[in-house]
Amino acid sequence: MLGILREDPEVWALYTRSEEYTPGFRDRYDRFPFYLSKNRNIFEPVASRYLFDRGFRPEYPDGRQFALCLTHDIDTVYSSLHGKGVKAFNALRDGRFSDAKRSLVQMKTKRLPWCNFQDIIAMEQAYGASSTFFFLVLDPESEDYAYDIEDLGPDLGMIVDQGHEVGLHGGHQTYNNPEDIREKKRRLEKLLNEPIVGYRNHYLKIKVPDTWEYLLKAGFQYDSTMGFADCAGFRNGMCYPYKPFDLRNNRPMDIVEIPLAIMDKTLFYYMHLDLDLSWELTRQIIENVKQCHGVLNVLWHNNCMSGDYLKLYKKLLDYCSKEGAWMTSGKELYDWWSRYL
Ligand SMILES: [Zn+2]
Repeated sequence: MLGILREDPEVWALYTRSEEYTPGFRDRYDRFPFYLSKNRNIFEPVASRYLFDRGFRPEYPDGRQFALCLTHDIDTVYSSLHGKGVKAFNALRDGRFSDAKRSLVQMKTKRLPWCNFQDIIAMEQAYGASSTFFFLVLDPESEDYAYDIEDLGPDLGMIVDQGHEVGLHGGHQTYNNPEDIREKKRRLEKLLNEPIVGYRNHYLKIKVPDTWEYLLKAGFQYDSTMGFADCAGFRNGMCYPYKPFDLRNNRPMDIVEIPLAIMDKTLFYYMHLDLDLSWELTRQIIENVKQCHGVLNVLWHNNCMSGDYLKLYKKLLDYCSKEGAWMTSGKELYDWWSRYL
C-alpha cells in the first residue's frame, strides 16, 4: 500500500499530512483547520481512490461492498440544573403546562435527558448495527467536565454486553500529554474490567504525528480523530483505515487510524448547512466511499439525537442499510481491517 502511495508526490503529501508538520497557524483549540489545508478536493477520498484504481480491493463480511463505522462522543450525560430550569420557565411562560411539569420532574432526576445510550443502541440494532461510545474521563476541575465516569459503570457494562464498544474520549489537553492518556485509559479499564483499544480526542484535537506515538505507547490499537472539525470529508484523502506514516522517523507507525469523515456538528454548525444540504453532501460522500469499497466513519454525539440531527442520523442509517453497508463499531472494523495493514 505504502509503495503505491509513494509513487505520486501529491498523494503521498496528502496521505502523510506533511503540511501539518510545519509549525504555523493553529486555531484557538490548537487544531490545524481545513481552511489552511492545501486539500481542496476534500469530499473525494483521493488517496483511497488512487489505491483502488491500482487494484486494491478490500472486502467485508458477507460480501458487503463498503462499511459504515458508527461512533458517539459522550460530552455530556446530564442536562444541567440551570438548563432544565430555563426550559421549565419558558414552558410556563408560554402556557405549555405539561412541558413545564416534565421539565420540573427532570430537575429532580439526575440522568435525563441525554443518558440515552440504550435508545441509541436500540435504534442501531434495528439495522443489525453496532457502534462505539467514546467516554470522557475528567475530574471536576477539568475543562468541559460534565460527568463522573465512575458514576457510569453499569451503563458501560450494558453497552459492552450488547456488543457495542466503549472507547476513551481524551479531554482538552490529553492529545498532547502521554501521561494523561495512560492515566485515563487505566481509569476507564478499571471501571470496565477489560482493555480499551479505541481513542478519539475531544474537539478532534490531534498533533501529527505525536498523538499517535503517545497512543501507541499507551497500548491503544486505533485512533479515530483524523477529520476536520470545520469541514466534512477526508483529511488525508483516505476512506480506508491505515497505519499513519511518521515523516520525522521515516517509518509507518504501529497503530491504526480509522479516519473520521462526518461529524454531526460539522454539517450544521461549522458548514452552515440545513437538513437538505447536509443530506445531499452526506449522500455524495457515501457514494464516494462506496465506489472505493471504503469505510465511512461518522460521529454523532449523544446530545445530537433530536431534531434535524436525529432526522439526518436516521436517514444515514436507513440509506446505508439499503445500500448494503456493513454497519459496525471501530473495534470490529479494526479487527477486520488488520488483514490489510
Ligand atoms: Zn467531545
